[in-house]
Amino acid sequence: MILEEPIKGVPLVKNYIDGEWVESKGEIKDVVNPAKYEVIARVPISTKEEIDMAVEAAKAAFPDWRRTTPLARSRCLFRLKELMEEHFEEVSRIQTQEHGKTIDESRGETRRGIENVEVACGIPTLMMGYNAEDIATGIDEYLIRQPLGVFGIIGPFNFPWMIPLWSAPYAVATGNCVVIKPSSEVPLSQMKAAELVEEAGFPPGVWNVVNGGRTVVNGMLDHPDIQGIVFVGSTPTARDVIYKRCGETGKKVIAQGGAKNFMVIMPDADVSRTILALMTSFFGNTGQRCLSGANLVIVGEDDEFYKSLMDAVADAASKIVIGYGLDESVQMGPVRDKEKRERILGYIESGIQQGAKLRLDGRKKVKIVGDYPPTCFLGATIFENVTPDMKIGSEEIFGPVMSVMRVKNLDEAIEMCNANPFGNGNAIFTSSGKSAREFQYRITSGNVGINIGIVAPMAFFPFSGMKDSFFGILHTQGQEAIRFFTESKVVIQRWF
Ligand code: NAD
Repeated sequence: MILEEPIKGVPLVKNYIDGEWVESKGEIKDVVNPAKYEVIARVPISTKEEIDMAVEAAKAAFPDWRRTTPLARSRCLFRLKELMEEHFEEVSRIQTQEHGKTIDESRGETRRGIENVEVACGIPTLMMGYNAEDIATGIDEYLIRQPLGVFGIIGPFNFPWMIPLWSAPYAVATGNCVVIKPSSEVPLSQMKAAELVEEAGFPPGVWNVVNGGRTVVNGMLDHPDIQGIVFVGSTPTARDVIYKRCGETGKKVIAQGGAKNFMVIMPDADVSRTILALMTSFFGNTGQRCLSGANLVIVGEDDEFYKSLMDAVADAASKIVIGYGLDESVQMGPVRDKEKRERILGYIESGIQQGAKLRLDGRKKVKIVGDYPPTCFLGATIFENVTPDMKIGSEEIFGPVMSVMRVKNLDEAIEMCNANPFGNGNAIFTSSGKSAREFQYRITSGNVGINIGIVAPMAFFPFSGMKDSFFGILHTQGQEAIRFFTESKVVIQRWF
């Protein structure tokens, strides 16, 4: 049974600027549901003038908003959290309809987004400074945290609801105002979030959304009234556009980039539990997750262990139910769009050309539940005999493709992981505390899993990253986001 679709009648997406829903003058692009391959909405590619208007509105709202007490700001966030709970199912279905992921994956995404709002509700205590009495006789010193003004938040396509919520709630909780640019491929979840923000009673101009592409991003990067940027997306954009330009213009920056994650299986791993974790890790969200497993590294020279593990992995992967995510029986949705699918096919072809063994061919085995065009669907794909110098072993594929490698021991496994330029979320599966400790200690990735395949940090922990997966100092989520969105001011006071 297909759950009811919340988006009906191909709406034209508007911008949300200064508390008003404004039609853009920019060119219009289609938003496509990848499962049905049909247009479900139209989104504007907004102009430079429109991003300037939004920044102007945010700048004008800032003086009053920063003087609103943290308790009062927190009450707005509590109302927002309640509204998000009330609309939980609708929000989740919007994500599935615009992105293609399964409804359970969307529900998980909705939950994590709300959790960030919940954490930001604690702002009266989270924003506290500290003090020291008598730094010299009769003189005290204290530190306060203050908001800076306007921040730009730029999202990727793969988590349309959650990722802007890794930062926007903390930005406004601390007294800043925001302009959000969702991915133009999936703008509808953020429009729903903005509707709920409006209903929660945030003052006009505090939370703005401008749809579009590079013009909007460049408008943010060049704008003198934007104090900082939070970006999540691919490494070339994170490093060569966002981080570079923020350095040139003196803006604060968080730029989270791409990934190539290694899942290391030790010979003492609990195989039956590991298989389940590997399925969600490699094929959940159709492999379009910055924490997705990409390379499966099997440790040891025991051919029997390798064979039985690979038989179980290939068997489980071949049984994944594929279809439209609004069918609750479906376990894997389509790839986000036709071009992305073609890019993944290119990687599969390169794996074959470079001599890897295609164990499970997702191009051929796709049996879709329901009557949907095959345009964006791709089955789980597994390559064996992969080496780190192959494209499929080293580059981010961002699709349901597993590259299997073998190494002799844990040292070799860690060296192989650390030689890859990315450092987002690597994991080890083992029942040995010693091996787990060694892995955690030496691995160069910001998020580390021990018998966990998707290492997604809770909202009260930072979403970390190392090497080519992260550019900046502080991270999104929790206390680090509070630090990012505030400036420390030190006051020294003599009492007389
Ligand atoms: P992307 O870099 O193509 O786009 C991200 C955003 O930047 C979009 O809003 C897009 O409109 C804008 N953009 C793209 N190119 C631009 C340019 N040249 N100039 C200015 N703006 C530009 O990324 P994507 O394809 O939307 O997202 C997938 C990528 O995001 C993957 O690499 C994935 O690993 C990564 N990701 C990382 C994390 C993390 O926390 N590290 C989380 C989710 C996704």
